[in-house]
Amino acid sequence: MTESELLALAKEYASQNEIFDNYIGLGYYNTLTPQVILRNIMENPGWYTQYTPYQAEISQGRLESLLNFQTMVTDLTGMDIANASLLDEGTAAAEAMMMAHAQSNGRRKTFFIDKNTFPQTIAVVKTRAAPFNVNVVVGDFRTFDMSTIADDLCGALVQYPAMDGTIEDFESFSTTVKNHGGLFVVASDLMALTLLKAPGEFGADICLGSTQRFGVPLGFGGPHAAFFATTDKLKRRMPGRLVGVSRDVDGNPALRLALQTREQHIRRERATSNICTAQALLANMAAMYAVYHGPDGLTQIAQRIHALAKTLAHVVTEAGHTVTTSGDGFFDTITIRLRDGTTAAAVAEAANAARINIRVVDEQHVSVSLDETTTKRRLRNLAQLFSDREDLCMDKAAAAAGIGSLADMTPSSSGKLTRNTPFLEHPVFNSYHSETEMLRYLHRLQAKDLSLTHAMIPLGSCTMKLNATSEMVPVTMPGFNSIHPFAPPAQAKGYQNLFRELEADLAEITGFDAVSLQPNSGANGEYAGLMAIRGYHESRGEAHRDVCLIPVSAHGTNPASAMMAGMRVVPVKCLPATGELDMEDLAEKAAKHADNLSCIMVTYPSTFGVFDAGIRDVCQVVHRHGGQVYLDGANMNAQVGICRPGDYGADVVHLNLHKTLCIPHGGGGPGMGPIGVKAHLQPFLPDHPLLPGFGGSKSPGPVASAPYSSASILPIPWAYIRMMGPNGLRQSTETAILNANYMAKRLEDHYSILYRNHNSKCAHEFIIDARPLKETSGIEAIDIAKRLQDYGFHSPTMSWPVVNTLMIEPTESESLAELDRLCDALIAIREEIAAIERGDVSRTDNALKRAPHTAATVTSDTWDRSYSRETAAFPTSSTKTNKFWPTTSRIDDTYGDLNLVCTCPPMESYGEA
Ligand SMILES: *Cc1c(COP(=O)(O)O)cnc(C)c1O
Repeated sequence: MTESELLALAKEYASQNEIFDNYIGLGYYNTLTPQVILRNIMENPGWYTQYTPYQAEISQGRLESLLNFQTMVTDLTGMDIANASLLDEGTAAAEAMMMAHAQSNGRRKTFFIDKNTFPQTIAVVKTRAAPFNVNVVVGDFRTFDMSTIADDLCGALVQYPAMDGTIEDFESFSTTVKNHGGLFVVASDLMALTLLKAPGEFGADICLGSTQRFGVPLGFGGPHAAFFATTDKLKRRMPGRLVGVSRDVDGNPALRLALQTREQHIRRERATSNICTAQALLANMAAMYAVYHGPDGLTQIAQRIHALAKTLAHVVTEAGHTVTTSGDGFFDTITIRLRDGTTAAAVAEAANAARINIRVVDEQHVSVSLDETTTKRRLRNLAQLFSDREDLCMDKAAAAAGIGSLADMTPSSSGKLTRNTPFLEHPVFNSYHSETEMLRYLHRLQAKDLSLTHAMIPLGSCTMKLNATSEMVPVTMPGFNSIHPFAPPAQAKGYQNLFRELEADLAEITGFDAVSLQPNSGANGEYAGLMAIRGYHESRGEAHRDVCLIPVSAHGTNPASAMMAGMRVVPVKCLPATGELDMEDLAEKAAKHADNLSCIMVTYPSTFGVFDAGIRDVCQVVHRHGGQVYLDGANMNAQVGICRPGDYGADVVHLNLHKTLCIPHGGGGPGMGPIGVKAHLQPFLPDHPLLPGFGGSKSPGPVASAPYSSASILPIPWAYIRMMGPNGLRQSTETAILNANYMAKRLEDHYSILYRNHNSKCAHEFIIDARPLKETSGIEAIDIAKRLQDYGFHSPTMSWPVVNTLMIEPTESESLAELDRLCDALIAIREEIAAIERGDVSRTDNALKRAPHTAATVTSDTWDRSYSRETAAFPTSSTKTNKFWPTTSRIDDTYGDLNLVCTCPPMESYGEA
């Protein structure tokens, strides 16, 4: 298809999704995305094409925004520390359960969940609990006798406000949970928390939830950023990425990802979470929503929502129904017991006729959730479902309900749970309330960050390729954007068509029989795939098979996912000379563990960027010993159209749609990691509690909150595949491989290139070795990485899979001119290193060791370095006309980890007026 044909089809599918007035709730609410945020973040490649901010000196903009996110969450929840997002509310709850379990050193195996919690949250927690034999007990927190599980309790989760809308006072329950030795976990809603007492004030050890309703569209389930906050005591157990304040070598404050030693590639088999890609872009949107509205604006939005709910409650009660929401009042959601003679089915039918979605609870109960998009007119249409009066007037109803000034609105009927602590007092949340100011703030941050709008980002294994505009356009089409994930399937026909086509395409590309689009990241796909393998063995009476073979070179998420699936990780060696899997070691380990072998997790082409000639043998050896083959598909960009995991022997693969299939990285998410499986594993694919018939018949449960998790970004790979066509896809793979080999060839006279095959060819990526330079010049991979910033480039992948190396992946998207520009930069840097080797330049005071150079450094009145300012800032002629300035000098990671600060510091410490 051409771009215009594709867009026409996308529009047609979008129009087949019917957008009803939506009051379903359950953690997903309509929201008004401020247009300045929609256009300048969500639809802006300057924000969505960025990579995870590992190169902090050229990422200060989004790091500041993510720090705002953490501050917002910390303030509203009343907790000590928050991370920079998780995948969704359900997985955040599952992480909390795992933390509680780990906190007891695995000894306590009962996790309690109040029954008034979203069903998808309960289901996702149950999936995660099973491999650890953690018993998830769902009960009524008011009546459940905790002493019956006291010795075994690791934690308890409640929802505040609860699923039916009730606001409960958890003060004494929190004490009970703690007295019994468990962690007290609260799932909450940041909008409600602007008016309600913060969970940190009634004993929460962990507070989590979704930030979706802070301006992030419904998108049929995602992508949205979940939040996760905890206490100071538990901070080092917290999953996910954490932005912290540190300083650069000049002593200026600077931001960077904190506690990097916790990252998945270090923790490996000691990990308790496999979270890697999260939801950075959506966290930025939510944070900016709070920056734009500020504490007063947010409070007013919440008060108005509550006033609408209260008005509706009045109309409903007057009409003879009963609002059953008990406890200490409600915020935005009410559950209604219909008067005798009216059934939920009848109301639902009337609702459907009026193009309204409500939630049917049972035969006699329905529930509705209001939000900031609800207008007086829409409220009247909704109220009409419950009232026979023809003269219904919302203003009169509001007056009759006693609603005077919005400022008096408090959801807590006793007043005991009314919020009386301030929040978002930091200047950043009180400065940018006009669109002019907001626009400039967004662009000021954007300007600090290097993205694909500036230069290629040659990150091996991460596949930073073009995110074509025509692929991105459908994402924000209202038909895809504004539909609730639990809307009746009949209203989502366009999505269903698109999903069916995408599933078929991915199955064909990978050579598998069935595809699940549910996993919400690559690591989440690994987990879903391993759970399918686990279920398969169990179904054959071989539940004891729990050994997972993993090459030492594997991505850190592999062992972490295996741990989460309850497997024992057995490392397999790689050959030092070629990087290939050590077949002898594999045969030995597979034989040794034959009785308990569950699977192998293998990456192809390997993590070293080489097509292992022995991949079929690897699969055969493992199969012969009763194991399954999990293929990490992060390197599919070297395979699409050329070879298929299903053909050479794999049983399951995950695809990183945000790598191979063009979903942008978003500065650290969103992503999606669907899995393809052979027919025998199909029954074990993820399902969903709110979509009967979806997924496998013997499913281990859902791995994400929504059936298609981040559904609204699935049009991207769908569009890519359609526009490329079979020949285009193959050609793009060939070009990716050609580009890598071209670069390797150009660089081989200057650097030693690791691990090419017997024809001295690499796959789609290759590794340059900095280890020899350490001896000759004192220079390490990190110095090259930082110096590349002065040349206007983002570093290649650093020190993975081999320490002190750089892995380069150019992708097919880059032009010859850009490939040459990067080669020229690397060659020029090699010449700078040669000067050190010759002794012409100091081993410590040189442009590499002291890189990167900021504008402030090179224009400073003092300059006491052994090299010139021009060398520092303008090492090539092209940098003179096209200069990207790093905004801080090299950052001191250790300092920040020793002095952990993860909320916004005082304004003057940002290093700008
Ligand atoms: C990116 C990557 C993953 C993890 O994917 P996420 O989406 O970040 O969770 C797993 N394995 C390999 C080899 C990768 O490159």
